[in-house]
Formats: sequence, structure tokens, C-alpha cells
Amino acid sequence: MGKRDKVPALTFYGGAGQIGGNKILVEDRDTRIFLDFGEPFHLKDKFFIDFLMPRDRCGLKDMFFFNLMPPIAGLYDEDWLECTDLKYEPPMFDAIFVSHMHFDHAMHLRYADHKIPVHLGAAADKIRESWCATGSSKIEFGDHDFKGFRTGQKVKVGSLEIQPIHVDHSVPGAYGFIIHTSEGPIVYTGDLRLHGPRSDMTKEFIREAAAAKPIALITEGTRVSDSDPRENLSEKDVGERAKRLLTKNDRLAIVSFYPKDVDRMRTFRDVAKAAGRKFVVSTKVAHLLSALGSDPRISVPDPMTDPNMLVYARKMTRPAAYDKDYCDLVGHSDHVVDSGYVRKNQRQLIFHTDFAQLTELVDIAPEPGSMFIRSKSEPFEEDDAQDEVLMNWVEFLKLDFHQAHASGHASMEEIFGMVKTINPKTVVPVHTEHPELFSRCSQKVQIPVPLKRMIVS
Ligand SMILES: [Zn+2]
Ligand SMILES: [Zn+2]
Repeated sequence: MGKRDKVPALTFYGGAGQIGGNKILVEDRDTRIFLDFGEPFHLKDKFFIDFLMPRDRCGLKDMFFFNLMPPIAGLYDEDWLECTDLKYEPPMFDAIFVSHMHFDHAMHLRYADHKIPVHLGAAADKIRESWCATGSSKIEFGDHDFKGFRTGQKVKVGSLEIQPIHVDHSVPGAYGFIIHTSEGPIVYTGDLRLHGPRSDMTKEFIREAAAAKPIALITEGTRVSDSDPRENLSEKDVGERAKRLLTKNDRLAIVSFYPKDVDRMRTFRDVAKAAGRKFVVSTKVAHLLSALGSDPRISVPDPMTDPNMLVYARKMTRPAAYDKDYCDLVGHSDHVVDSGYVRKNQRQLIFHTDFAQLTELVDIAPEPGSMFIRSKSEPFEEDDAQDEVLMNWVEFLKLDFHQAHASGHASMEEIFGMVKTINPKTVVPVHTEHPELFSRCSQKVQIPVPLKRMIVS
């Protein structure tokens, strides 16, 4: 495209009319940046399932074949284009700004040309590193120059100046952006909530965004719907409910939630403390918490020193390097335990698990009547088929099942209130299945159409 008109333009390669998968191109004069580079939740579902997956060894060939991703010149890494008809060209994009490290905002970074620098919060970068060190080999984000920023630190890219401002979400290191273009500021919310432990950060973002008098507000709307079915408590309410439940059941408490939700980790550590129990987390969680804990600005519990936490080392034939460090400590550290310990001391413990680790319950053998608390924060945790399997486990093990969810996203009323406070010239709803409902809070809604260039003025 090269030199363009001065008017800033937005193109939505993901995130339009769907929850997640944000991939928003901002063009201003000669500058082109992406806001997020995520994978949509159900991108591959139509043509792929279980072990039938696009072939990584063929690069992006399968993805292009089914039109799952658009072939764009100057965007993808040379390696990923090898088997495709799209010729490699040097990058035509200046930078990618990642709002936070959820896969629907960051997972496609690995496809982007590694010569394109990636800007993300300092904590988000620590999460990325931990994710790479503890994830399966498929989880990687490319060989980019990852540049960490802090709240308020403006970043200049060509004709744009990008101002990140921290927000509260279900993962640390989450940011919204004020993008100063040649025609005025454009605000992007990323994902945010107002009922979490750091709602002060989201409020600060809203204040700054309003003061900027933006020409456009690109806002998330995960829970903008007339039927928001899942019960949503505040983070504090989740803790209170769990504490109450524990007073009625003295057996093992098993809790399942997204392992990168550090706030929920803290909540259940506090629940354990109040109940005189210990909260047991996986080696992967321990790795993440210790990576984040090295940053003095983030307060996270350290399971290796916290008197109310333990690390659970699984039995493994070939443990990964980080796992082996913990496994070697079984029997030598008061803070690392195995299934034998958990089985013997069930009534003194709260055991965290995610769906993929349910099999550990076979070794732990919870007493019938033990409690299972499911506690979600994100729309992508478990699909219907997994739900059914989980409930079969609950029934088979005769567990006492409860739920306590607190969303990572603001409610419809809160989002509409935010839009009114920021009062932008144009509202652009993304990360929502109901963009049309935004007409209730603004007369200037522009609904993004996938791949269609939108001029902001
Ligand atoms: Zn998201
Ligand atoms: Zn998110």
C-alpha cells in the first residue's frame, strides 16, 4: 500500500463480530501497526478437530487454503510461507502492540515476520517467557524483538505515539492504549474489568482516555449481550463463597480455573489461609508465579516460601527441565509434594487443577464427598464436550460440585458507562458477538466488518 492518505484507517483481521482473535491494523500516514495478534477461539473448528490439525510443517499452507488467515504481503515470517504461493517480502508493518498475554490476543505472533518488533507490558513479557519455558513445543511466539513497556511510557513508531495504560483483567500485565495519530487520538481498551482487585487501574485508564478526547474508541464487549448467562461474582465474592463452602465440607477441596489467572491464585491462597489449609499448585503455576515475583512491582504469592502454599510435582517419565527442578525437591523441600502426600493429607489441602491435569486425581484418590469448585474467568475455558467429560469425572469420583465464577470482563452496563464517560467521536465495538447493542450507549457506532478498511475521522 505504501504512502497513503493522512486519514487514520483501521482494518480488522480478527476481533470483528467475534469474541477474541483481535488483530487490528492501524494505518496513519506511512506508519502501520497492529493492535494485538491473536487467534480467534474457533478458528480451526470447521475443518479441524482433535488430532486433525493444520500441518505446521507446511507453514501457513493449510490456513490459507481454507481462508482461515488472509495472505498479506510483508506480514508473515519467511519460514511460514515456504510451502505457500505467497512470496516472501520484507516487512511492511512497523510494530505489533500486544494488550495482554491471552492466546486470543497473542497466539499468532509466531506467524508474523520476526523482524517486526513486538511491544508488550513488562509483566506480559515475563508471562510469555514462562509460557515458552513450560508449554508444549507448539507454544512459541516467534523470534521477535520483544520490547517491554510500563504504564504511561509513550512509544513512538513513525507518525504514531502509543501510550499504554494499565487495566485490570484476569491476567497481569494487561493494558489499554491511547494511540496519538496525525488526526487525533484513537483509544483501544484491550480486555478489561471493573470488579477485580485492581479496578483502580481500569478507572485510571478510563480517566486518561476521556481526557484525550478521542476521535475513536475501539472497545471490547465480551459481556455485551441481553443474555449473559454465566453468574458473575467479583473476585472478592469468589473468595467469600469458597470460604463458606469450606466450612461445610472438611474433605479435600479441588478447584479448577485458568492457570494464568494470578488473581484467582491469590484468592485461593487466601481461602486456604482462612481455612487453615494449604493451597497446592502445579509446577507450571509455580514457574509463572516465580517469574512474575521477580518483578518488585507485581505482588504475587511465591509457592516455594508462602506458608499456605505447596507445589505439586507430577510423576513423569521425561520431565521438562523446569519440571525436573521441582521433582528433584520431593522429599527434600517442605514446599514440594507428590501425589502420595496429597492423598494422605487431603483434608488439609486445596488442590488446583486444570482440565488437562484431571488425571492426577486418579493418584490422589479423593475421598467420596470431596469438594470440586469450578471457577472460571474467561470465555475460552472448556468447551461443551470438555464440560461433559468434567461432569463425568465429578460423578464417577462422587464429588460435591460447586461453581464460583468471576469474569475477566466488565459487564454490559459497565462497558456502556465507560463509553459514555470517554465520549469518543466514534465507537468501534470489537471482541463481542453483539456490536449492534452499542447503539444503546452511543449514536456514533461504526461496526467493523472483517478485512474491510475503516476510515476514522
Ligand atoms: Zn480476549
Ligand atoms: Zn483477555
